[in-house]
Amino acid sequence: MGYAITVRHYTLALVAAGAAWAQPYDLILRGGHVIDPANRVDGVADVAISGNRIAAVAPNLVASQARRLIDVSGLYVTPGLVDLHTHVYLKGRASTVLPDDAVLPHGTTTIVDAGVSGWKTFDDFDRTIIRNAKTRVLALLNIVGGGMNDNIQKEYDVADMDPKAAAEKVKQHPDVLVGIKTAHFGLPGWAAVERAIEAGKLAGKPVMLDSHVYSNSGRTTEHKVLRLMRPGDIHTHSYNDHQVEVLDRFSGRVQPWMTQARQRGVLFDLGHGGGSFLWPVAQAALAKGFPVDTISTDLHPSSILTLQVNMANSISKLMAVGMTLPDAISRATVNPAKAVHRFPEIGTLGKGQIADVAVFELRNGVFGYIDSMKKKLTSNRKLEGVLTVRNGEIVFDRDARAAADSPVEARVGALPPPAALRASSGAANNTIHDIVLKHGYVIDPANRRSGRFDIAIDRNKIARIAPNIPTRNARLTVDLSDYYVTPGLIDSGADVDFLDSLTGVQADHNSLPHGVTAIVTERASREVIRRSRTQVLVVNSLRADPVIPVSGLNRKSVLSERASMTRSLTLALNAGRSFADLIEGATVHAARLAGRPDLGVLKEGGPADIAVFAIEPGSFPMAGADGKRIRAKARVQCVLTFRNGDAAWDLQGLTMREWTQAGGYTAYK
Ligand SMILES: [Zn+2]
Repeated sequence: MGYAITVRHYTLALVAAGAAWAQPYDLILRGGHVIDPANRVDGVADVAISGNRIAAVAPNLVASQARRLIDVSGLYVTPGLVDLHTHVYLKGRASTVLPDDAVLPHGTTTIVDAGVSGWKTFDDFDRTIIRNAKTRVLALLNIVGGGMNDNIQKEYDVADMDPKAAAEKVKQHPDVLVGIKTAHFGLPGWAAVERAIEAGKLAGKPVMLDSHVYSNSGRTTEHKVLRLMRPGDIHTHSYNDHQVEVLDRFSGRVQPWMTQARQRGVLFDLGHGGGSFLWPVAQAALAKGFPVDTISTDLHPSSILTLQVNMANSISKLMAVGMTLPDAISRATVNPAKAVHRFPEIGTLGKGQIADVAVFELRNGVFGYIDSMKKKLTSNRKLEGVLTVRNGEIVFDRDARAAADSPVEARVGALPPPAALRASSGAANNTIHDIVLKHGYVIDPANRRSGRFDIAIDRNKIARIAPNIPTRNARLTVDLSDYYVTPGLIDSGADVDFLDSLTGVQADHNSLPHGVTAIVTERASREVIRRSRTQVLVVNSLRADPVIPVSGLNRKSVLSERASMTRSLTLALNAGRSFADLIEGATVHAARLAGRPDLGVLKEGGPADIAVFAIEPGSFPMAGADGKRIRAKARVQCVLTFRNGDAAWDLQGLTMREWTQAGGYTAYK
């Protein structure tokens, strides 16, 4: 008998060895610095994925056991980030974004919609957005039955705050609904907070609060965080200075109620957004030992543009004022997962968990970051998404690391020669301009203008284009001597029909950061046109013209190829086309195609739609047109875009002042 058992064991051992040879892993991310705070991992290791699960995290896994191996040495590997505060229900409110392209490229694989839907609208949200997203979308249900509304008065309607109905809805959808949200309440008193907490009690879930303490609200931070909020409830917008008072304004000390609330188990979330991140508050809170428990973006169409809100950028900003990277990763993975009671299902690289993984580069350089008062902090590090795995699938791949090498070698086309500064036009002039863009190399093919010119902007119009407009005539001067300045580009190859189809992307955050101020398309509804800051023009029929560069944007390409106008320009430039020729294609020729010769030109008296580009030499791996990896030798990047006179995109904060030199702050609202 004993003999037989031994033989059986021997056979099993052989089968196991055979399985090892048969490549048990589908993917190994090799040699990255893994930070997985929940499992106390902080060092170089490989991450192996089988199917849609994490199979192993360990140093030196056997390469031959993987079907696919991607080298991520020199990069950081973390659990897919969890963003506790976003707004992604499109029909609920105009100020929402589509989930995938706004978050996956920045390492975020799970988002929590913070109360755009209420119990009356959740089913529509679930059907139209949640089930169609690659991103894992969880949600906090608004205590207001109708959810958030463009008519803010509807969010003050206490009669529509039904704790029983809200709790019932949450219980029906335990897979998605992780809690209750109250926000934007503009009347005095505690009715909204009390009803939200009542719903939270009935559903057995946490409540997230967004609630002002000033504006004669009759509310105080102390009462809110010590008397009303329960352990596990989450206060968002912690660093904006008007929803919770973290610090005493005079002594700079952490307020005693904040420490007591934290001891009670109340959680404090960042909720960056457009209005809730101030340098002095964040810096002082970190210095005094009051870091936020969770980092989140409060993603919406305005914050994603002006403040470049995404998880990687929010982490970079907190690092710029003193937080360490591992500390920030904890607050962007395990902490938010625990806050919504989903740990360890999400927020870790634990063996057997769903494979949601983020890979980041921590870049060194000079980077300008912007806060809610539009003040800048210049810093040397930036965390940037490189590769994102969601549910075992590579959904974002900045450098085309998963692609095969292309045999094609990049050959950079002509760049306009740097021209000397030209003498002043000399004309005496006492006009005061809002902005003067100084010394940029202007490429304006419609006017056959090419060389160094200044451009003055008054309100939403171009006031003057001339060499050397005196800086004393300008309220704000922006030095563009390192950059090319062109008319805002026209994209005639973007699908921006994002509301009525499953193929379109939102124009603004996919166009303005790439120098595109107008989109010409065959299909876009009035509502899409109304919601877009980018000029959306509908024409009957569009024909492709190889002379005209286009983004090729749609819901698939925006992720798979990271399609954008600057990517298309970079690829064409590296295929030998001249930059001036490309700009002519995306301005003059595209305007003609649209039957709008008034567009794509820099004209005094015309609208100030202006793009500013940097062309960086180097080696930039990226997916070519055939999907194979090429190494671009020059990269086109858009640093500044004016749309109708407004600096809608300002990558480095060129139009903003450093916060330490910009005078006093006040955030009383
Ligand atoms: Zn919000």
